Amino acid sequence: MDLLNFGQDNIMRIEEDIKLDYSDVLLKPKRSTLTSRKDVILERTFSFYHSKKSWCGIPIMTANMASCGTFEMAKVLAPHKIITTFHKYYTLEDYKLFFQDFHNPDYVAYTLGIRDQDFQQLQEMIDNNLIRHFSFICLDVPNGYLERFLHFVREVRRLCPEHIIVAGNVVSNEMTEEIILNGADIVKVGIGPGSACTTRRMTGVGYPQLSAVIECADAAHGLSNDQGYGLIIADGGLNNPGDISKALGGGADFAMSGSQFSGYEQSGGQTVEKNGKLYKEYFGSSSNKAMKEFYGNKDTHRASEGRYILIPHKGDIEDFLQDLFGSLRSTATYIGAKKIKEFPKRATFVRVNRQLNTIYETFEVGDS
Ligand code: 5GP
Repeated sequence: MDLLNFGQDNIMRIEEDIKLDYSDVLLKPKRSTLTSRKDVILERTFSFYHSKKSWCGIPIMTANMASCGTFEMAKVLAPHKIITTFHKYYTLEDYKLFFQDFHNPDYVAYTLGIRDQDFQQLQEMIDNNLIRHFSFICLDVPNGYLERFLHFVREVRRLCPEHIIVAGNVVSNEMTEEIILNGADIVKVGIGPGSACTTRRMTGVGYPQLSAVIECADAAHGLSNDQGYGLIIADGGLNNPGDISKALGGGADFAMSGSQFSGYEQSGGQTVEKNGKLYKEYFGSSSNKAMKEFYGNKDTHRASEGRYILIPHKGDIEDFLQDLFGSLRSTATYIGAKKIKEFPKRATFVRVNRQLNTIYETFEVGDS
């Protein structure tokens, strides 16, 4: 790190080491003893730092966005052992109705923010015995660096000692540790990489996502006890199944996507017809659209940090799932991993200089 001294107390820091996004790398193929993609094990089993639960499934989840964290999505994804992280806008009554005939707590996450109303709804979910329908609780804020956020993590852990608590978002190792030590089992990593996100443009803040994942995973995995260790979710910027493989190879325990679960019949958002073609809405949780639709209006001190996008209608999510699983199996075969768990051990990333279109540097992650 370079320090440039512009006079007393005026020290600007520049981090010189290279930080990477998914598009900056490819996974290097390796010798493999696998004979069929069918043999690849996509499921993982986790135990946790705080929660005494254990979990088994495919470590992929929808974002907690209105356009993908829906009841309809959960009905399709849960049988495939993929987690649906519900958006924050369902009411108690919505949940009461839904859970009359949905009983699969391991594959749904309840989301809340840090507004007083969020906390009040959590309390009501507990009082109405609805929170038992969830194994996961996701405490989600755009900026996980707020002191108030850590207070909320502690409070949620106090109220829900048995649950698997997810909290974020952050992008650095020290805050990952802090959040786990304050009560979370899993830290959500990503500031600015989302496809419907304009934070980097509007605020200048962010961190290249693959590097954030690698660094935060390292920090989380370093925290362990008799029961389990800290985990992370790579959240946002996963534009295709190949990016999911890169995130898992970089050490992410789970991958969370909004865009890849949007645009389907089961996704949220309106279906829009334009020039004879069908589209589905996809919009950031901090977009003007979301703030107006769910909070009545935008606070005057807030700027929109989300986009509104129309995605060509993609049909049934089941078709995508087949592609997704096929791609993960194929990555495993290329890099010589028998299971998703082995991705970090088998991953060697090759840096791609897209300008020169040459491959000029490699670095290792894990003991491949
Ligand atoms: P995607 O799959 O679209 O690349 O990324 C989804 C992730 O983007 C979400 O899980 C969430 O972390 C982030 N996100 C969603 N909406 C917004 C928004 O309006 N602003 C910002 N900064 N991030 C958002």
